[in-house]
Amino acid sequence: MVKAWKSLILLFLLFFKNGNCAKNVIDIIIENTQPIKIKENRRLPLFVWVSIPLNVTEEELKLYLNQLIERNIVVFTKWYIPKEEIENEIKEAIKIDRIKKDLSFPVAIDATSIVYGFFDGSQETGHIDEKGKVFFDMSFSPNVKMGCPFRIEKRYYIIKERLEKFLKAYKDEGIEIKYWVVDWEIDGPIEWNSAWDNSKKCVICRKNIKDIENFDEFQKVIKRKRADLQREVFVNTVKKYFPDCLTGNYAVNPHDGYRYWWDYFEKEVEGATYQRKHNALFRRWFDEFKYSGYTIAMPVIYTWYRFFNDYNFEEKEYRWFYPLLKEATSVGKNTSENIPIISFVHWQTVVKPKQLPSDFVPLSREKYKELLWHLLFKGFDTFCLWSPLNEIAEEIKVLHEVYSESFKYNDFILKGEPVFWDVPEEADCVISGLKMKNKLLIIRSDFKKEKSVMKVKIDHKKIEIPIISGPFILEIK
Ligand SMILES: [Zn+2]
Repeated sequence: MVKAWKSLILLFLLFFKNGNCAKNVIDIIIENTQPIKIKENRRLPLFVWVSIPLNVTEEELKLYLNQLIERNIVVFTKWYIPKEEIENEIKEAIKIDRIKKDLSFPVAIDATSIVYGFFDGSQETGHIDEKGKVFFDMSFSPNVKMGCPFRIEKRYYIIKERLEKFLKAYKDEGIEIKYWVVDWEIDGPIEWNSAWDNSKKCVICRKNIKDIENFDEFQKVIKRKRADLQREVFVNTVKKYFPDCLTGNYAVNPHDGYRYWWDYFEKEVEGATYQRKHNALFRRWFDEFKYSGYTIAMPVIYTWYRFFNDYNFEEKEYRWFYPLLKEATSVGKNTSENIPIISFVHWQTVVKPKQLPSDFVPLSREKYKELLWHLLFKGFDTFCLWSPLNEIAEEIKVLHEVYSESFKYNDFILKGEPVFWDVPEEADCVISGLKMKNKLLIIRSDFKKEKSVMKVKIDHKKIEIPIISGPFILEIK
């Protein structure tokens, strides 16, 4: 996610609070969405990566939660490490979640704040060069001293202990945690940016990574360590208290062995294995999900600005659609049915420069909505909206429109089988669909000026897909 924007959100929240402005983020969410009329408990809720502001009264909180329940929207309770007394922070979180429990509102925890700091900047966590000098890798963030992946095990206990305090308090209160997720990014072992160069200079890394001169081997060791850390410190600890709780981390998901996008802090490494499409590099990716033990896949479907320059499709909207569809296909096709896919999503261009090129074309609202349908028809279960506050009104509106409408097709979404996986290499017609018995629920997106009826084969039968916008049902005859 984008850290600078997060601080911006905090600033906004402070402004709203201190300016005594009545509108907070929950008001914005409620104002821009409608109750869902069709009830279906088996569908997962729509998540929004925000929490209830702390300055609301108990009555206001209940009112908010009831309105969110009507909309099937879940917001998170954030766990923080306060400057003083962790017990106070636990009490604050429990105060909110006790009310959520009473109203049967699913308890979802964003534990990001409390799981950070394996690399706490201490000398004991740094790399060590041949002369015995400790050094750090500052290539990820000027604020994070990334150190040696093999010198953080002492930190495991500190973070685990912090986490257990929260978990135990919830258990003692009889509050069941249903979803436990984090946005854990710039911390712990990562193979990108200058990590490889630095590890090669470190005597501890050299001792621990057999074939360190080979990036693929380096990546395997580093990512396996990252996955093991998450299993041991996060997943197993949560499970100890709440065995049925679903756990996940931002951008950790099953895939086809490649990743089709770059996070805001990631830089290319010469010597890594890539596939190229136009100027875009698809990176070979390790199966972090499998070893981490997470039970939710949390892919990231954001319109990163970079896509616009990485591709040269003349039909410019396809520059957004193509990589996001590649990622969605990779995740949808490789995630087993028992693992829910809760995708982070954001429509408006992410990490935009101040000055946009004159030929810039963002992803249109219409095409974004279609993209969301494609995700649902490729096996995605639901979404988790991440958004800066100034964009959240539009973001939740468009996302909730698709999510609510998808309730018309609950059976397909719950039981249907995704049947189309083709991502056209040129801007063309994109089809996704769910099959249930002899029926197909279809969405098609057209990127060519001349549209035509598409002919496909399902169960050895020829199907014609007419030019229709929005989802529609066809019979397989
Ligand atoms: Zn090292």
